[in-house]
Amino acid sequence: MKKRILAYGRLNEAQLAQLSRDFEVQDFHGLDSFDDSTFRAALPEAHGLIGSNLKILPELLEEAPSLEAIASVSVGYDNYPVETLTERGILLCNTPDVLTETTADTGFALIMATARRVVELADFVRRGDWQASIDRDHFGSDVHGKTLGLVGFGRIGAAVARRGALGFGMQVRYSNASPKPALEAELGAERRELDELLAEADFVCVTVPLSEATRHLIGPRQLALMKPSGILINIARGPVVDEAALIEALEMGRIRAAGLDVFEREPLSPESPLPHMANVVALPHIGSATHETRTAMAQRAVDNLTLALHGERPISLVNEGAWEKRRGRQPRP
Ligand code: NAP
Repeated sequence: MKKRILAYGRLNEAQLAQLSRDFEVQDFHGLDSFDDSTFRAALPEAHGLIGSNLKILPELLEEAPSLEAIASVSVGYDNYPVETLTERGILLCNTPDVLTETTADTGFALIMATARRVVELADFVRRGDWQASIDRDHFGSDVHGKTLGLVGFGRIGAAVARRGALGFGMQVRYSNASPKPALEAELGAERRELDELLAEADFVCVTVPLSEATRHLIGPRQLALMKPSGILINIARGPVVDEAALIEALEMGRIRAAGLDVFEREPLSPESPLPHMANVVALPHIGSATHETRTAMAQRAVDNLTLALHGERPISLVNEGAWEKRRGRQPRP
């Protein structure tokens, strides 16, 4: 009998057809909550889940005794209870690498847009307010030659840094759990403690994963360390930055601007002051949202799940411990 997959997001027809060759696939495209009764009814028989954006709580796994693998269409895995999955021997797969450059492009778009006030001044033209040569009230600040501070210097942080160092002659500083000597040699990057980096950088770009260690890593104290001319970019996860503290810092002019792709609650409430501030560029979590990259991410997830359900090691595995557990249960080749 074919194994069963519940698919709840971002797969095109060819990808669904590919999965259907080997597995029984139930398509829940557009599912916006695990409370859906049809989904819940299907869960006890499911061997694989593929999707993203919805938070999986440990309780949900109680209803899925046959589950062998989850393929997330994302690199971040803060929506999954990794420890519980590992204990249960359920493989968790993600999609690193294929989205790195696109997400870095988004980060750099935010750097450029905030520094040169692109959105604010495009709105100024759209409103018909451009009646005379603009004066210093509308000047922005340079990007080239400035200091770029990366909070998190993994795949995406390094890709943003490459754009800054090689394209814009920026000095790169980074704070990261471990040192990155190869990137230091490649980009002239220098490692700093977070506090030092915040004080030194003209642009602080957040690219750490969300975890208990990084939740509100950037709070009131950290924002106060930034230069008044400093610009904060967040392309990681909303809760890494204390949003209330950020709003206050922007309102009080303690930092100059913010470019945000991610928020503590998504979709961002229309009540939030952030998108209404002239010095904020707020995007609807589009870090990886290009046709090419979203297709590649879904394909990676499909390939991961196919391998996992055939008992092979997926290309991108988050919880090595679950793999060891499964291999312990299966005859080794
Ligand atoms: P990655 O390669 O794993 O890089 C993360 C880096 O953060 C690593 O260098 C890691 O250090 C460092 N780090 C982790 N915890 C830390 C801590 N507590 N303190 C200091 N440094 C810490 O991941 P990535 O592919 O660059 O992706 C990063 C994050 O971006 C993802 O987790 C995801 O949440 C987010 N993202 C957002 C979008 C979007 O749409 N906006 C798109 C893609 C990804 P080590 O190297 O020492 O382990």
